[in-house]
Amino acid sequence: MNYSKKIIIAIDGYSSTGKSTMAKWLAREVGYGYVDTGAMYRAVTLYALDNGLFDGDTVREAELVRRLPEVHISFAPSTDGRNETYLNGRNVEQEIRSMRVSDKVSIIAAIADVRRDMVRQQQAMGLHKGIVMDGRDIGTMVFPQAEMKVFVTASARVRAQRRYDELLAKGDTGVTFDDVLRNVTERDRIDTTRAEGPLRQAHDALVLDNSTMTRDEQNQWLLDKFNDIISRQP
Ligand code: C5P
Repeated sequence: MNYSKKIIIAIDGYSSTGKSTMAKWLAREVGYGYVDTGAMYRAVTLYALDNGLFDGDTVREAELVRRLPEVHISFAPSTDGRNETYLNGRNVEQEIRSMRVSDKVSIIAAIADVRRDMVRQQQAMGLHKGIVMDGRDIGTMVFPQAEMKVFVTASARVRAQRRYDELLAKGDTGVTFDDVLRNVTERDRIDTTRAEGPLRQAHDALVLDNSTMTRDEQNQWLLDKFNDIISRQP
């Protein structure tokens, strides 16, 4: 297959559906760039936490927005080729995946000015196409004209189990399955009901419910869809 034609691939969906894993796989397979937009919202959240901008679940919004120009998020490959997230030059890849950040990220991601800033940066990253981007609003807000849109979903329990297993594998033993299930459900609620860039399925998205699919089956599904779309590109 000739992958020299470049398109934009938007992969959206609920928390912990394995979007990032499949998006990364596809990007590598077809030689495209990859952007994890959730990592960007997580990095802003870490910045707010580290700078004392939270009081419980309330964030000092105006101050955060004023300080956004000093929040620099970038990605760079690690020695084993995996893309890692940097916040003002510091590698925060591990820290942004912690429950401390997961618990607050949807609050930050609901702030209109934060979203505007992130969307602007994401659009700049996709300017030359040849990119796979995963998130919540990629096919609806960031790249409504993306040639390939996938909307990934799975039951909340399946998703919570996956995230829980991941945390355990990383040695994060301080959380229970119920904590993770609550977090997944709460993020779904905030992400789908916010005014700005809510999570919703684009009308032209391909839906992938991976509750009972293996990773290999999902990858094959994605690649088949990609090949089909690319073969129809002018
Ligand atoms: O994808 P991930 O679960 O890491 O995203 C973390 C959070 O960031 C989501 O729960 C959502 O609140 C927010 N997010 C978003 N828009 C995106 C990507 C992530 O609002 N494009």
